[in-house]
Amino acid sequence: MQDIKSYLNDELGTRYSPGEISYLTRLILERGLSIPLTDILACKFNHLSDVAVRKVHEIAGRLKQGEPIQYILGETDFFGLTFSVDSSVLIPRPETEELVQWIINTTIDGAVKILDIGTGSGCIAVTLAKKLPMAEVHAWDVSSAALEVARKNAERNGVHLIFSERDVLQDPVPEVKFDIVVSNPPYVTASEKEDMEEHVLKFEPHLALFVPDDDPLLFYRKIADVAGLNLKRGGSLFFEINREKGEQVEVLLRQKGFRSIERLKDISGNDRMVRAVRE
Ligand code: GLN
Repeated sequence: MQDIKSYLNDELGTRYSPGEISYLTRLILERGLSIPLTDILACKFNHLSDVAVRKVHEIAGRLKQGEPIQYILGETDFFGLTFSVDSSVLIPRPETEELVQWIINTTIDGAVKILDIGTGSGCIAVTLAKKLPMAEVHAWDVSSAALEVARKNAERNGVHLIFSERDVLQDPVPEVKFDIVVSNPPYVTASEKEDMEEHVLKFEPHLALFVPDDDPLLFYRKIADVAGLNLKRGGSLFFEINREKGEQVEVLLRQKGFRSIERLKDISGNDRMVRAVRE
């Protein structure tokens, strides 16, 4: 039988020795092979079945092709919760956790009505529903495959959301009044493609990443209009933004009649989030 510890150490370049375990190794053993963490830490997995060994080889093969571990395992963590992911949704990013934290910090009355436009895996909407249990959370997406993932994530995390399959650029928008509208829309332009990491380009859904017609503000304009109609007075619009477009998004929101516009940087120091209040 293959010595799985040396396999992980040598072949995968991950590290395994008691007391020193890489996060990737832990993910493979704990989530890929369902070995309890206590056994992993105690080094108690010398006798893996052939099935388990085959599974490690399969995971290793896919990692070597550059596939993100989150897609291989079919799940990832976001804001302390676990979310299913597949290639129809973006892998939730830590910057988006910061956006969610900002919304939670600024929401004093928890009995709010929230709309998440372009929900993808549902990471924003599900987390808000979980952390603000009095809130009513609606989530839209153009992709039925993404909505299926988001539904699974709502169920997995024990929250009830109101989902709609809707193309915010084309479809009519119902008039429902919300306290908060949030969106992390596609914001990468074609010219930024060459700076992107290969695994993102190769494995993540381009529908969720790239703006159509290379118009970086397309979704922001449209969603600002939706929020202008559907936010209650004094309600807030939150956006995740392209770090190069903070100023432009701010100007756009001012033109659309929003006030108290604030921009926040993410932990890497990049312009990443905007909040604007409806008059
Ligand atoms: N932040 C993501 C990336 O860097 C893009 C997310 C988005 O387009 N909304 O790949």
